[in-house]
Amino acid sequence: MEEGRYARHLALPGFTKAQQDKLLDSCILMVGAGGLGATALPALAGAGVGHITILDHDKIARSNLHRQTIYRDTEVGKHKAEIAAEYLHHLNPDIEIVGLIGRLQDVQIERRYDLVLDGTDNFAAKNFLNEWAIETKTPLISASVHQFTGQSGLFAGHEEGAPCYRCLFPELPDHAPDCSTAGVLGSASGMMGLLQAHMALLYLTGLGDTKPGDFMQVDFLNLRLTKLEVSKNPACPFCGDERQKSAPDTQACSYAPLVAYNDLPHDAVIVDVREAEELEIDPIPGALHIPLMQVPQRLDELPDDKPLAFVCAGNIRSRHAADYLSARGFSNILVLDKFSL
Ligand SMILES: [Zn+2]
Repeated sequence: MEEGRYARHLALPGFTKAQQDKLLDSCILMVGAGGLGATALPALAGAGVGHITILDHDKIARSNLHRQTIYRDTEVGKHKAEIAAEYLHHLNPDIEIVGLIGRLQDVQIERRYDLVLDGTDNFAAKNFLNEWAIETKTPLISASVHQFTGQSGLFAGHEEGAPCYRCLFPELPDHAPDCSTAGVLGSASGMMGLLQAHMALLYLTGLGDTKPGDFMQVDFLNLRLTKLEVSKNPACPFCGDERQKSAPDTQACSYAPLVAYNDLPHDAVIVDVREAEELEIDPIPGALHIPLMQVPQRLDELPDDKPLAFVCAGNIRSRHAADYLSARGFSNILVLDKFSL
């Protein structure tokens, strides 16, 4: 260990070299390198978490830069996972950093992680990650930001008596707007990312009393931080007693495939879930237009005898719409890759 780098840790009361070594031996998987990851990742790398894997399928967009401040304007269009890995490597060349381009359900994760951090921005991805964490027995720190509220909690559904993410959120919300539709202050998502990293450092070093079920809620308008303790729901279909008897309903969390425009079935109906003003500058001829937030009320406008291919500006809202319909029993649902148009 290079002593100088962590000197301010070692000066803390109760922080020993053994705890720093524990961080250096730890492996963290960060799923998502967006608004949460952009502050969580530098905090973890700077603190000397010895192995960090960054998983993200997305590319840097100019509208992300107000909150994803590890990226530069000149890097717009590049893969976040790669650029974030490069940033962390310059910050701390003594640790191992891997950037993986893809989604959790598409990549082969072989390494065991001490902790997985959820930096995703939608419920479908959070649910998938929760199931993955239970299956692989990996403690999960999940965080989210919605306008002026933020949440961050430590979950470990695989442990006796410890809750999973779905113990807290048993129902899938009818609609879950992402940052592009709901809006977000960069400082709010940044603080939630830092809170995630902070909980991770406490948990890994054993400083304080951070344990599964700890859940922080932040009110960013009135500047209030509240801590709740979430308990395991014995009837939780994902981690409770019932799980042994019946397998979780993975169908509800299955992902619609991402399909390039040229590979669409000939009879597919393209459903554009962008807002009206976005269509004006970049219309998709022949597409049915239903903004994401109106999908739940306008289900009867969708043909049920043809493949439905959802599309938006960056494959996030379309993914929400596809997951929403898949969870409600619609079959033949696709996500049309906007970048293939
Ligand atoms: Zn549970």
